Amino acid sequence: MTDPLPTGATIGILGGGQLGRMLSVAAARLGFRTHIFEPGANPPAADVAHRVTTAGYDDVDALRAFANAVDIVTYEFENIPTEALDVIETIRTIHPNREALRTSQDRLTEKTFLEGLGLRVAPFADIASAADLDAALETIGTPSILKTRRFGYDGKGQSRLRSADDAQTALDDMAGSPAVLEGFVSFTSEVSVIAARSPSGEVSCFDPGENVHRDGILHTTTVPANISASLRMDAVLMAAKILNALDYVGVLGVELFVTPHGFIVNEIAPRVHNSGHWTQNGCTIDQFEQHIRAIAGWPLGDGSRYADVVMENLIGDDMNRVPELAKQRDTALHLYGKTDVKAGRKMGHVNTIKR
Ligand code: AMP
Repeated sequence: MTDPLPTGATIGILGGGQLGRMLSVAAARLGFRTHIFEPGANPPAADVAHRVTTAGYDDVDALRAFANAVDIVTYEFENIPTEALDVIETIRTIHPNREALRTSQDRLTEKTFLEGLGLRVAPFADIASAADLDAALETIGTPSILKTRRFGYDGKGQSRLRSADDAQTALDDMAGSPAVLEGFVSFTSEVSVIAARSPSGEVSCFDPGENVHRDGILHTTTVPANISASLRMDAVLMAAKILNALDYVGVLGVELFVTPHGFIVNEIAPRVHNSGHWTQNGCTIDQFEQHIRAIAGWPLGDGSRYADVVMENLIGDDMNRVPELAKQRDTALHLYGKTDVKAGRKMGHVNTIKR
């Protein structure tokens, strides 16, 4: 086992969005510095990081220099090109590990992995051609959802099939990308559990939150989730099983569908997660600090929940509500410093404590 990362060390973060920003703030609170690697100009994390490298993921020299300038590397999104990781890994440790990334980058690999752990997932089939889709529709039927295997987020790269007549349109929507067909789960609600694992195998889970989406984007997360104590326990055990199977280090998000027959796992994200933002105002140690602690080899912090919280994402024009929200009691604003307001763009979030 390697020694804990000392205060003053530098954590390299691939990706400079809001998650990288909030990870940087958490790292700074523990006396670490962060160095962001991000292809885009003026990323949200740049305001609060010690250093920023602006370069593409195909810039081998920049990747090498970045890796040499930091003590450990983590990431804020899962679609980092494999070649970039190959370069970094020869120089520095990457947490969470490559296996976690490989598993979660591809919906087919992910579902196969989860099923192999004995967890329930929606019925699924690999779709590489129109013939595959016809065959899968025979077994899975409709309603169902065709999803690209890779690069999907916030409901993007998805096409719903109400009947087999929608097959061609759905295939066209995939634009030639490999896909999976998923049976539609008629869930009663959606919850997620944010869990952390340290290099020594210690696991800590935050209380599951209940998620509501709007237009495919997370709208609110409410804690406590309206689920039974036994389901709450199931969620935590499932998350721990996934973390252990991946020999994972860091924070992981697990999205679950609640059905009358228990949970169905929707997907996993090998990183801090939007549905875990409530922890910033509901726990002593939030998901961002927990991730930093885990990858730094520090003891995991106390993630027990001391308040009921509703997290609401501020998307696009929701920014117009900021002056009003700023006056509201029991409400904590978290803004990402993005100057360009665009429809569907996550600009910030607000955590309201329910008393
Ligand atoms: P995803 O990008 O896979 O997380 O999907 C985004 C959202 O679409 C989910 O949070 C669900 O609300 C919905 N969704 C995705 N897959 C399914 C499914 N198999 N059955 C029902 N709803 C789904």
